Amino acid sequence: MGNFQPGFLRKFTPGLTFASTIILAGIFLAAIDQLVTTSISPLFTSISIVALVFLIPPKHSLIIYGMSYLLFFVTQAMYQTDQAILLSNRVNGVSMVGIGIVISNILWRYHLANLLFQQKISEQKELLEKQNEELKLYAYYDSLTKLLNRRSMESLLKSELDRIQRYQNHSCIIILDLDYFKDVNDTYGHPIGDLLLIEIADLLKNELRSADQIARWGGEEYLVFLPHVSYLQGVKVAEKLRESIEKKQFLLNEFDVHITASFGVVELNHHTNNTLEIAYKEVDRSLYRAKELGRNRVE
Ligand code: GH3
Ligand code: MG
Ligand code: MG
Repeated sequence: MGNFQPGFLRKFTPGLTFASTIILAGIFLAAIDQLVTTSISPLFTSISIVALVFLIPPKHSLIIYGMSYLLFFVTQAMYQTDQAILLSNRVNGVSMVGIGIVISNILWRYHLANLLFQQKISEQKELLEKQNEELKLYAYYDSLTKLLNRRSMESLLKSELDRIQRYQNHSCIIILDLDYFKDVNDTYGHPIGDLLLIEIADLLKNELRSADQIARWGGEEYLVFLPHVSYLQGVKVAEKLRESIEKKQFLLNEFDVHITASFGVVELNHHTNNTLEIAYKEVDRSLYRAKELGRNRVE
């Protein structure tokens, strides 16, 4: 069977059907009341209840109240024979229906404004949460390579040094600096240099284990922290990274870029370096030596 309901009836909610039933009851009671009294208070009561209790969209309220008034107009004449009272009831009916429409419209507008307000608040909340996330990212991570930034690596290393002192174990840090990186910028342009920094970060992530921590330490310098790794193992890791970078041909836009890196390795242990400053000085000295001795090497 086809759906022959008009659009507005299809959208009629159960609440609106209930509201219409209440007004219908008021109209019929007001009509029957005319047998004993001239009052139309059942109509007044039903319209007041509907206007105050139900949320009715303006288009629907016009339909409900308009049809109700027509029905009221007709049914009053069926039971009220005094023409003067009939006229007075019909006029009073118009004002009651008018008041019903006005109240329904005010409540509906208030409801919409409230909804809009709630939506605005939740949008603002979402935006704030997003901005907070971004702020956190800026605070802990390097925006170009998405590696840890120097500040978060420093605080990680400080707490690791405390742990090494307490539990008398060891770990390794590797510092690596790209060789002649300035030439990459000068030859291919700064944006290609940026892409290369990202590619190197990805290579490090791929080559290292998930427990290892990697940071962008400076412009084209990276620092790798290898927990519970000895000096000799650390040198092996650095050598593996050096080889991977040396072997790789980076395809950046249409350019084939080749680069090498120099490495400094230092072991953090409870005998020697017990502050970040000392450890950093040691590893920087090794890196300097690697540069001095011709680059593309581990010291
Ligand atoms: P060396 O082998 O002695 O390390 O030579 P180098 O050219 O790598 O070293 P230098 O310190 O002379 O140059 C580092 C260059 O890195 C200079 C700087 O413009 C560039 N650089 C630093 N940060 C960034 C960055 O975020 N993006 C790009 N594209 N270049 C950067
Ligand atoms: Mg360099
Ligand atoms: Mg450098």
